[in-house]
Amino acid sequence: MESTEIIIIGGGMVGLSLAYQLFERGIAKDIIIFEKEKDLGVHTSGRNSGVLHAGIYYKPGSLKAKVCIEGAKRLKAWVSSRNLTLNSCGKVVIPTKISQDSEIDLLFKRGIENGAKVEIINNKELKKIEPLTESPSGRAIWSPNTLVVKPLEIIKQLEIELKNKGIVILKEKLINSINKNEKKITTRDNQTYKYKYLFNCSGLQSDRVAHLCDVGKNYTILPFKGLYWKLKNNDKYKIKTNIYPLPDLSVPFLGVHFTPSADKQNIFIGPTATVAFGRENYQLFQGLEPIMLIKNLFILSKQYLLNKNKFRNYVHEQSLQFFEPFLLKAAQELIATIKMEDIEFSNKLGIRAQLFDTNKMQLVDDFVCINDYSSTHVLNAVSPAFTSSFALADLIINSSKVTSQE
Ligand SMILES: Cc1cc2nc3c(=O)[nH]c(=O)nc-3n(C[C@H](O)[C@H](O)[C@H](O)COP(=O)(O)OP(=O)(O)OC[C@H]3O[C@@H](n4cnc5c(N)ncnc54)[C@H](O)[C@@H]3O)c2cc1C
Repeated sequence: MESTEIIIIGGGMVGLSLAYQLFERGIAKDIIIFEKEKDLGVHTSGRNSGVLHAGIYYKPGSLKAKVCIEGAKRLKAWVSSRNLTLNSCGKVVIPTKISQDSEIDLLFKRGIENGAKVEIINNKELKKIEPLTESPSGRAIWSPNTLVVKPLEIIKQLEIELKNKGIVILKEKLINSINKNEKKITTRDNQTYKYKYLFNCSGLQSDRVAHLCDVGKNYTILPFKGLYWKLKNNDKYKIKTNIYPLPDLSVPFLGVHFTPSADKQNIFIGPTATVAFGRENYQLFQGLEPIMLIKNLFILSKQYLLNKNKFRNYVHEQSLQFFEPFLLKAAQELIATIKMEDIEFSNKLGIRAQLFDTNKMQLVDDFVCINDYSSTHVLNAVSPAFTSSFALADLIINSSKVTSQE
């Protein structure tokens, strides 16, 4: 039986960043990352918008607020120092109804409290940044520090650097059993490894992996699908920056937005936030989980009836956006002149690992890190976990018991 100091389950951005920081801080050198797929970045870390968020949305004091700005700064510096692709295009956030105007002040206040660079701008200033946009209330938010990167490029670079440091990445190794008393994991191909400390960074499967350790039994992941369309040709619109709607802060989705790709070649429109039929249901019949779906639809119907987190607003406004006319309507709330013939379906699609607390019967907004005997479980690593990953890794390490292990 092989043994190692640290086992990390999951070779996504969270697991890779954790390994990177454990090594860089001299906490551990003997690290094995277990990844069930044959490549890294197959799931959420390789399927997101690639936006390095500037930290304006999150409740001051939340874990998201604590790590987003620092994480974005560190990742930007890391990306720049390696000459990877970076689009420093900023972001405008525009109310789609006059009645949302007072929420601009709330978002601005949150941004300032979190330490973000953020400005309230008028329509004249907005039009200078994005000529085709207009705020119905006359005001919008400008976030100059929002950037766009190429997620898979970052994952590949991290993989190279981790391997150079001697960190082992084992692919096609699905961990399906954990004996926490004996500190042993077993893989699907029946290999057993001993560890001193275990980190569960398994994204969409993180609740199931936590349950193998009898941890977080009150949590389950409700997967939400994010589909993207794109502009057929940007010559007509000349969009340069991220254009986001002012979000409903009571639900954990930012709404359909326009995002220029890091290489400035495409303008993506999305992602939607609709119920996924399986955690890895990327194609119609792939990864279907009928029992999970029935359970989740039951939970979501209850949310609708109880209207927790104003869930009914989400259902009415966002849940149908995978139908093109609804998507187009959301896009037109940001750029009124966009037409059906100007957009096409892109092959980009990601699934959010949205956590649900079955005790409190509500969607969880913040990141959740649970420490157990010799293990830490990272649940709800939703957006902005990619942005935050380096700072989030430090937070996970500092709040875990990893340094006190024998
Ligand atoms: C549509 C969409 C858009 C987003 N946009 C942004 C954005 O613009 N900016 C931002 O900051 N964030 C964004 N996010 C969020 C961001 O992508 C995630 O927070 C981040 O990628 C999570 O990384 P992760 O490592 O936790 O998960 P993953 O990337 O999913 O990695 C988990 C890994 O664990 C592996 N695994 C699972 N179970 C096992 C097992 N039993 N054994 C071995 N391996 C296992 C999986 O195969 C997977 O590779 C977006 C998310 C979505 C869905």
